[in-house]
Amino acid sequence: MPTNYLPFINPATGEQFGQVAVASPDEARAAVCDMRQAGQDWSRRPVAERVRALRRLQEVLIDARDEISLTITQDTGKPRQDALIEVFVSVDMLNDTCRHAAGWLRRERVSSGLYLFKRAYVEPQPYGVVAIIAPWNYPLALCVPPLVAALAAGNAVVLKPSEVTAATGALVERLIARVPELSPFVRVLHGDGAVGAAIVSAPPDFIFLTGSTPTGRKVMRAAAEHLTPMTCELGGKDAMLVLDDANVDAAAHWGAWGAFFNAGQTCMAVERVYVQAGVYDAFVDKAVAATQALQMGYSVSPDARFDVGPVTFPHQMEVIEAHMADAQAKGARVLAGGRRRGSFYEPTVLVDVTHDMLVMQEETFGPILPIMRAQDEAQAIRLANDSPFGLSASVWSQDRARAERVAGQLQTGSVIINDAIAHFGVPQVPFGGVKQSGFGRTHGKAGVLQFTQPHGYVVGAAPRAVDVATVLRQPGHYWLGTALLRLFFGVTLRQRLEPAVEIAEGRAPVNPATVVGLALGATALLAALALIFGRRRPNGGGR
Ligand code: NAD
Repeated sequence: MPTNYLPFINPATGEQFGQVAVASPDEARAAVCDMRQAGQDWSRRPVAERVRALRRLQEVLIDARDEISLTITQDTGKPRQDALIEVFVSVDMLNDTCRHAAGWLRRERVSSGLYLFKRAYVEPQPYGVVAIIAPWNYPLALCVPPLVAALAAGNAVVLKPSEVTAATGALVERLIARVPELSPFVRVLHGDGAVGAAIVSAPPDFIFLTGSTPTGRKVMRAAAEHLTPMTCELGGKDAMLVLDDANVDAAAHWGAWGAFFNAGQTCMAVERVYVQAGVYDAFVDKAVAATQALQMGYSVSPDARFDVGPVTFPHQMEVIEAHMADAQAKGARVLAGGRRRGSFYEPTVLVDVTHDMLVMQEETFGPILPIMRAQDEAQAIRLANDSPFGLSASVWSQDRARAERVAGQLQTGSVIINDAIAHFGVPQVPFGGVKQSGFGRTHGKAGVLQFTQPHGYVVGAAPRAVDVATVLRQPGHYWLGTALLRLFFGVTLRQRLEPAVEIAEGRAPVNPATVVGLALGATALLAALALIFGRRRPNGGGR
């Protein structure tokens, strides 16, 4: 079969600057098979050894920072400085995972309940092979952190970067090859959704998908065939709420930044703004000024000063134009921008928007900032929650308690107060969505543990006669079982005393002296053990 190639197309210039071979369905299946084999070796290594290999990757990423940022800029059109932010975020997450992985993956001692002479532990165990399927908007920062987390947890990985930014995907493959301690445990496959579908149906042991909500649905349907567990990091329609006591200058400046950073091609971009009536006019004026000050452009120079690059994926331009046409047809007014310029779209401010417009309901994923007046705080919250999406949100108020109260009522996976989109870069804050923005969490401890299953161990002496659980297992102890159930777990004093009353009234089918002796003995033993073990810190006997 002839090899197909994915071209590397610069979205700003339209020029092709390379290509990479597309994986065949057979290669996808073989990759999952090979990684399942390799993963057995990797998972047996102590966390410290896995971390040492990941530290080598950290070193490689830092050494290759200019090569990476140049490739990202050519691949997406974003400024070099924004490309460097991707390197920064990736390395920050990698560094944090390396620092904490051993603690997060430690075996933990837990209560052994009624099994007094046994010890119980929970240990996070890797799934085996994790498939990571990535989008194009942050081609490095959405590949590296989940890759590192899955590896740290002891999995081997099959990674499929986006077909839209295949040059960065090919570079990630080369960077991993520079770490021989790591490369046998990662396979990078290039191609479009068909290659992703072949990986999913191979099947891997866990799928981590970052992409659009329609793709999430498709991948979940395919994963259901093998009951493959997965995390879905999907689209968003993030709201920003500006309350009447907000710092309007900061809200307008950073709100515009949150809307137009990466030309609005951010899952958690500010996609709609609700401003309380008292500060609406001031906010709109300042947001328009901040928007008009932005420079559109493209350059590979690290010294070039511009803010907004092109639309990376040509199909996205159709969505942006459709949303703009729909909004304008329904009465929205453009106060800044509003025009396409080749592969660029001007940063745009829209007012007089309503919730029947696509731009307020569907993900635009472009440089459009629709602003809507809210009569009060309650209306702002209601409008923010009137969305099928629930990825993230931002709240602006100088009253921290008020801002937190409002934030707590938003149906989103995360929220930031007095800033926009920056919380994605906080390594230990779990990130993910609710509603149609997906499920599961990435980053930090949750981001590592999602790639593991809690494995339970109960170890210790063979059953002993005085162990309550052993007593329960003996035939003929039915009434005794009911007595112990009430004695240990009775909610009211009546429940706890019932067995004694039954004994006193001669209704208990056992010798009263035996029952009283057993119950008192068990209670005393439980109390003593609870005292001894309750004070001990859980044992961290992890590997
Ligand atoms: P997409 O859904 O088109 O593609 C995402 C990935 O899935 C690509 O690698 C693609 O090849 C692959 N894919 C497509 N069909 C597949 C199938 N049937 N089986 C397996 N894999 C398949 O998304 P995109 O256009 O690359 O990225 C933009 C979307 O991603 C936006 O909706 C954005 O909000 C979302 N996103 C979400 C987050 C988050 O963390 N929640 C982050 C970034 C982007």
